[in-house]
Amino acid sequence: MSVFSDLRIQTVKQSRRDQVDFDNLGFGDVFCDHMFSLVFEDGRWQRPEILPFGPLPLHPSALSLHYGQAVFEGLKAFRGKDEVVRIFRPDMNAKRLVGSCKRLCIPPIEPEVFYAAIEHLIRLDHAWIPRTRGQSLYIRPIIFGTESHLEVRPARTFRFVVMTAPVRKYFQDDVKAIELKAEEKYTRAAPGGMGYAKTAGNYAASLYPGELGRKEGYAQVLWLDGAEHRYVEEVGAMNIFFKFKNTVVTPELHGTILPGVTRDSVITLLKDQAMPVEERLVDIDEVIDGMRSGELEEIFGAGTAAVICPVGAIAYKGQRHEMSKNSAGPLTRKLYDTITGIQLGEVEDKFGWTRVVDVDAAVSAAAAGD
Ligand SMILES: *Cc1c(COP(=O)(O)O)cnc(C)c1O
Repeated sequence: MSVFSDLRIQTVKQSRRDQVDFDNLGFGDVFCDHMFSLVFEDGRWQRPEILPFGPLPLHPSALSLHYGQAVFEGLKAFRGKDEVVRIFRPDMNAKRLVGSCKRLCIPPIEPEVFYAAIEHLIRLDHAWIPRTRGQSLYIRPIIFGTESHLEVRPARTFRFVVMTAPVRKYFQDDVKAIELKAEEKYTRAAPGGMGYAKTAGNYAASLYPGELGRKEGYAQVLWLDGAEHRYVEEVGAMNIFFKFKNTVVTPELHGTILPGVTRDSVITLLKDQAMPVEERLVDIDEVIDGMRSGELEEIFGAGTAAVICPVGAIAYKGQRHEMSKNSAGPLTRKLYDTITGIQLGEVEDKFGWTRVVDVDAAVSAAAAGD
């Protein structure tokens, strides 16, 4: 029997949507009317609910607040000109969430449950999915330990919540490149740590160095490896790619780097276009030398929030190194256009990446179904 057979739906009396200024969306400033919730108690996930978005009761002694037992995901839904609602590669997020759960001793959410939760929620709040190009509906699932206890051990109760938010593009200006500071002192993740998991703690570790970088005028930190501060890992919430004259290079996944869905999409698209792409160790000196010589033609970050974001400069050892053009290069542009085109149903989805949500199906029927 499906976990959804007893889905309870409590809808808002009045939608807040009309009060939202869709011309000035931020990233998580406003949330849709409803959220989805499931709890883990007595050894199983149960009590599926859709309820008005709002605060949840939580013990101050909830284990996740003290010891960081929390994982999350981030994906997007789009409405194309054809009015079709598509979610981009949710199967990848579902799979990654299972991996993150394992690393954090959290009972996993099955991929079918993960997807069904999102689908139920989006059917109910589909009016919130923006129609303006560049905007989308960001979907944020999170799981955290709720058990009231202070011993250091995995919690025995958890909550899975899915919230959704209409968002603008992550970086306001889609042409201007961002500048990065290669971090020589602090590390985001160490070998054997949890860098590959999408967990709160990795972000906690990144906040202070991020603030220091911002004070110096750098939008994001470029993380180097934790052992030697020599090999490039990734950027805040994006993986990173370097386009040299003859090949595209990105750091290989070896446990300290988050396996991005966008990263995988970029690699797949490049291979499909017979572009040489290498996943390997990338020495920061190779990057700086390439910038100096012009051998390195484009640098871009790849992540759900920003999609593809050009990098215009990197600070390293107190020196600022600039790319020759402070805007998106041809490959950066092409990848951005291809991925967003697939997301909007304007470019052929030859890899079957998008999943269509039938938003016209009645929610009550969905609740009874499965
Ligand atoms: C989520 C995330 C990314 C990007 O992954 P996508 O699946 O492409 O959104 C990259 N790095 C970190 C640290 C992340 O948390």
